[in-house]
Amino acid sequence: MRANYHTHTRRRGHAGGTEADYVQAALDNGLTALGFTDHCPLPGWEGLNCFRMDSAELPLYFAAVEEEARKHAGEITILKSVEVEYMPQYRDFLERLYTDWHVDYLLLGQHFFEYHGSKAFVSSTQDTELLPAYARSIREALRTGLFQMVAHPDLFGMRPYAWDRNCTMARDIILDAIAESGAVLEWNANGMRRGVQDFPDGPRVPYPHPRFWDPVPGSGIPVAVGADCHDPKCLWDDAVVQSYHVLQDMGIEPISTFPLP
Ligand SMILES: [Zn+2]
Ligand SMILES: [Zn+2]
Repeated sequence: MRANYHTHTRRRGHAGGTEADYVQAALDNGLTALGFTDHCPLPGWEGLNCFRMDSAELPLYFAAVEEEARKHAGEITILKSVEVEYMPQYRDFLERLYTDWHVDYLLLGQHFFEYHGSKAFVSSTQDTELLPAYARSIREALRTGLFQMVAHPDLFGMRPYAWDRNCTMARDIILDAIAESGAVLEWNANGMRRGVQDFPDGPRVPYPHPRFWDPVPGSGIPVAVGADCHDPKCLWDDAVVQSYHVLQDMGIEPISTFPLP
């Protein structure tokens, strides 16, 4: 069964394609479930809202996803969600996404995390020293029980540093927290889409990072392939197909239903 639980839309100009365009692409590719996870606006983050829609747009986004779910009921399962960071000050806001907006799940995309009183961006970390703090912020998020899936936890693989003990420490904290929470670990196809590049630890795709995934086979941690598509053409492209092949070679069978019972 084909499914994707990590989908962006053209809101805020971050991606291309309307909600309807992605549903059409999902139907064309034989998907049985499609989860929408556009970047969620966070209160008080106006300066950092680089890739997220404005707060005023959130109700319109949810309404558009609900409309698609109604139109295609019985044809495909449409799930309503957002990709979002966790910080303790946003806990009430995130809880209201369930109570007021009835999201089906929350996708943790911990692009930003708190480090010594300010917000650090994992995609621009200069060295590995911050990574254990990044990992602990993911653990704190998962302990709230608000998140059912963790997007690209190995996003730091795109940075130009070699894998070291900080990376190993961060990986172990994250994988232990995922196992403890019962959340799903995402294999992010958007990293595959960026192609093999030269890194200090050898040629590889930026992420998923092979060292991050070393302990996953046999761990019992549920895994999903996330298209992380920013264009309807990428909903089921070569990067997604290749992701399934790589996981199969690793002996990992991605989940076929979500959220997990
Ligand atoms: Zn993301
Ligand atoms: Zn994403």
